[in-house]
Amino acid sequence: YTAIPQSLPVFGEHITFDESATIDLDTAELNGGVLLKTLAFSADPYLRGRMRDPSVQSYTPAFVPGEPIVNHTIATVLRSEREGFKAGDHVVGLLPWAAYSIVPPDARIKPVSNEAGVPWSYYVGILGMPGQTAYFGLKRLVELKAGQTIFVSAGSGAVGNVVCQLAKLEGLKVISSAGSDEKVAYLKEIGVDHAFNYKTADTNAELQKAGPVDIYWENVGGPTLDAALANMNRFGTILVCGMIHDYNSRGDPYPIKNFGAILSKSLTVKGFLVNNLIAAEKEGTAVFDREMGKLVADGKIQYKEHRYTGIENGAKAFLDLFKGDNFGKAVVIVADQ
Ligand code: NDP
Repeated sequence: YTAIPQSLPVFGEHITFDESATIDLDTAELNGGVLLKTLAFSADPYLRGRMRDPSVQSYTPAFVPGEPIVNHTIATVLRSEREGFKAGDHVVGLLPWAAYSIVPPDARIKPVSNEAGVPWSYYVGILGMPGQTAYFGLKRLVELKAGQTIFVSAGSGAVGNVVCQLAKLEGLKVISSAGSDEKVAYLKEIGVDHAFNYKTADTNAELQKAGPVDIYWENVGGPTLDAALANMNRFGTILVCGMIHDYNSRGDPYPIKNFGAILSKSLTVKGFLVNNLIAAEKEGTAVFDREMGKLVADGKIQYKEHRYTGIENGAKAFLDLFKGDNFGKAVVIVADQ
């Protein structure tokens, strides 16, 4: 897949799948690197931000027109000239959206042993970046106290559903919104105390009923943020994880009306990027790998994937995120093993 970012009015049309690019698996030169076969890759909202005019600075580099899209991928090693990696190993890393790839000797790929015995795709979802976002965001940025009320938007999604469940395990009351009745039913199944469909219910009225909110986990922005601001408790915290409502607004974001609540209610607003949280960890992701792996293996946390099968569905998986057509973590399954 290659991205042609430009200004992208209808960005889906600019992602192209190139069937002519090939690698000879037996003879391709590795130059000290590793030949990988993709098992699954992740479709994540933040990729939208990389599809921009490259002259605009941001926290991630812009995709280069004509170059492959790269994102979190789980792959198996076919051949290796790199010490520490051998055929049959599994690795995660930021790899091209491609069936096979050759990565250079210094590529940041991390071995995965799958002690949890879960499907490999989990390593780009609950046991990968989205799970790390939920885990480190919730555990490091706010002091959780049993009995507090947390509101989680996009609660059935990759990050949101992990936040909801971790918060329940900490004894919090969880309110969560999602974009369909089916998603709301799922939220109730995973233990959410008050779930509602923000497309058919009034978010402000729902939060008035179930709030006030001590912690708002912000995944979406837009009118949901306005309603959350209006229903925060005094001294509450807003953890700004994402604002997908505005990712396609192209310079015309939703006009928030209730910013005044930050002052009048003495709120704390913390924006964060998962990479920065991991960089601040002495052991990197080790504590997450241990704890989340165990929670998933023991069935203490449920996990839902929206599986797109076949590499040709990569663009659809990505575009569906912005329509709410994914129900669970959007992952593209490229090969079984
Ligand atoms: P999800 O699996 O939650 O998929 C995105 C969901 O967002 C959709 O399914 C849809 O759910 C909802 N959505 C889409 N458009 C809108 C809209 N206009 N208003 C309200 N909801 C909308 O994605 P992730 O869990 O991967 O990501 C969730 C958020 O977290 C994103 O904003 C993402 O950018 C952010 N993020 C931030 C990270 C960080 O380091 N700060 C790391 C990872 C993710 P529904 O049907 O419920 O509307």
